[in-house]
Amino acid sequence: MTTSTTDSSTPAPGAAASTDERIAVVNPATGLQIGSAPVFDAAAVAELAARGRAAQPGWEAMGFDGRALVLRRMQQWMSDHADELLEILQAETGRVFEDSVLELAYPLTALGHWARNAEKYLRPQKAAASSPFVLSRRLRSYYRPYGLVGIIAPWNFPITIGFGDSIPALAAGNAVILKPSEITPLSIEVIRRGLEECGMPEGVFQIATGAGATGAAVVDVVDMVMFTGSTATGRKVGAQAAQRLIPASLELGGKDPMIVLADANLERAANLAVFGATVNSGQVCLSTERFYVEEAVYDEFVSRVVAKVSALRQGVPVAPGSVDVGAIITADQLEVIDAQVRDAVAKGARVLVGGQPVRGVTGRFYEPTVLVDVDHTMACMTDETFGPLLPIMKVADADEAVRLANDTRYGLAATIVTRDRARGAELAGRIDAGTVSVNDMLTHCFALGLPMGGVKTSGIGTRHGAAGIRKFCATKAVLVAPSFPNADIHFYPANEKVSPLLLAAVTGLYGTASRVARATPRALATARRLRRELGR
Ligand code: NAD
Repeated sequence: MTTSTTDSSTPAPGAAASTDERIAVVNPATGLQIGSAPVFDAAAVAELAARGRAAQPGWEAMGFDGRALVLRRMQQWMSDHADELLEILQAETGRVFEDSVLELAYPLTALGHWARNAEKYLRPQKAAASSPFVLSRRLRSYYRPYGLVGIIAPWNFPITIGFGDSIPALAAGNAVILKPSEITPLSIEVIRRGLEECGMPEGVFQIATGAGATGAAVVDVVDMVMFTGSTATGRKVGAQAAQRLIPASLELGGKDPMIVLADANLERAANLAVFGATVNSGQVCLSTERFYVEEAVYDEFVSRVVAKVSALRQGVPVAPGSVDVGAIITADQLEVIDAQVRDAVAKGARVLVGGQPVRGVTGRFYEPTVLVDVDHTMACMTDETFGPLLPIMKVADADEAVRLANDTRYGLAATIVTRDRARGAELAGRIDAGTVSVNDMLTHCFALGLPMGGVKTSGIGTRHGAAGIRKFCATKAVLVAPSFPNADIHFYPANEKVSPLLLAAVTGLYGTASRVARATPRALATARRLRRELGR
C-alpha cells in the first residue's frame, strides 16, 4: 500500500486551470493523508468543455476501428500497470487487495467488450414500411454521438464506475468530462495518463475534480449526463438535466434482498450471503442488504452465516490475503451503519455477531454484523445501509418472501437461492428489480451483453447491452423517397373526387369492407352539406 502522497489532475499542457483550492484525500484504513486533488469551479469546467468540444470531431472521425485500437491498447496498459492501479485504489478506499482486484477486472472486461461491439450496437438500423404512405421509401435510423458527455461517479468503485461508464461513451465517439467523487479522486488520474499514453487525442477524456458544485457545473455544460450515486443526488442531477433538456442516465441506490428457499444449497447460500453483504465492506450498489429465509431452513442458514461472519478477518490490509474486510470510507457512512444497528436493537432485534464500530484503531471500520428478529419497521430493512450488515428475517414461504422483497422504494437487484432453477426464474419475474440473480450475486457486472440498471428510485436507464451505448447517442431517422412520380395522391390541389377515395383507401386498409363501403358515400354527403352551408 502506498504511503507517499499523490497529487492528482496536474493539468496537461494546454489544460484548463483549476482553482487554487485542493481537496485532501485520506486513506480510510489508516487515517493518513495520501494526496490531494484540485477543485474545478464553473469557469474551469467551462474551459474543459470548450477543449472537449474542439477535440470530439477528430475522435469521432477516427471511426470505430481507430477508437477500438486506443481502447485495446488501454486494456493492455492497465494490465501492465495493475500494481500501480491496485496500490492507489487500495490507498484511497481503504479496502482489501482482493476487492481492488475485482474492481480492476471490470474495466479490463469493458474495454474489450466495447472495442469489439460498439460498431455492432451502433450500426444503422433498417425499418420496414409500416404504411402505404412510406412504401418504396428507404427507412434508416443512425446513431450519432451526442458530442460531450458528463460522467459523475461515486466513491465505492472509483475506476469501475467513473472510467467504466466512460468507455462506451468514448467508443461511441463522444468526448468525456469525468467528475470523480471528491473522496476518491486519485486513481482516475492514473487512467487519464494511461489513455494519453495509449494515443487518446488530447481533450477527449478530461477530469474535473471537486465536490457537488463541480458536478453541477459539469451538468451545466455537457450534452448528456451519466450519473451514478445516491438517489438523493440523482434527483438533483435529473432535475438539472430536465431544466437543460439534456438526457440523463441515472444509476442510484439500492436495498437488495436475498431470498433463500428451503431447497437451497445452504452452504452456497451462506457463502453468497456473507460475500454479498461484506465485499468492499458492504459498499457496493449490488450488495445484499436484507435476507428472507424460508422457515424450514432458517436456523441452519443463520448458524452457517454466523460461523462464517465470525471467522472474517478485519483490519488494515497490509498485503494480499492479509484480511477479508476493509474500511468504511467516511465517518458519515460509519454513522449511518451504526445508527441502523442501534435503531434495530431499540426495536427488538438481536445482534448475533458484531454490532459496533471497531474501537481503538485510527482508521474507520465497522464489524460485520448479523441481526435477527428484524422487521420492516427497522431502517436496516428499508433504508440503504452501504455497510457490512446481514439482517435476516424468517418467512413462511416464497410468496411472503417476494412480498417483502418488493416492499421497498428501491429496485436495483435481488438474489434468489434455490436448487429449482425454473422456480428461481419464475420468482425472478415477480421481483421488482432491474437485475435478478438466481444462485449468484454481483456477476451481473460482468454480463456486458445484458442490460443492467434499476427500477423505482434505483434509477433510470441501463448500463451494458445495446442500450448501454445507444444512450450516449442521438438517433437520426432518415427517409429517402424515390424522385418519381411528380405528385403523390395527397398533394395539392385538394380534389373532391380524389379526397373521398383517399379516405376509402385509408379506412379500407385498417377497417372492414362494409365500413369502407359506408365511408365513401358518407364523406361525399358531408361535403355536399358543408358546401350548402357555406353557400357555394
Ligand atoms: P453521492 O450521491 O453522494 O455522490 C455521487 C457523485 O455526485 C459524487 O461525485 C458527488 O460529488 C456528486 N455530486 C454531489 N452533489 C451533486 C450535484 N448537486 N450535482 C452533480 N453532482 C453532485 O453518492 P456517493 O456517496 O458518492 O455514492 C454512494 C451511492 O452511490 C450509494 O447510494 C450507492 O447505492 C450508489 N451507487 C449506485 C450504483 C449503481 O450502479 N446503481 C453504483 C455505485 C454506487
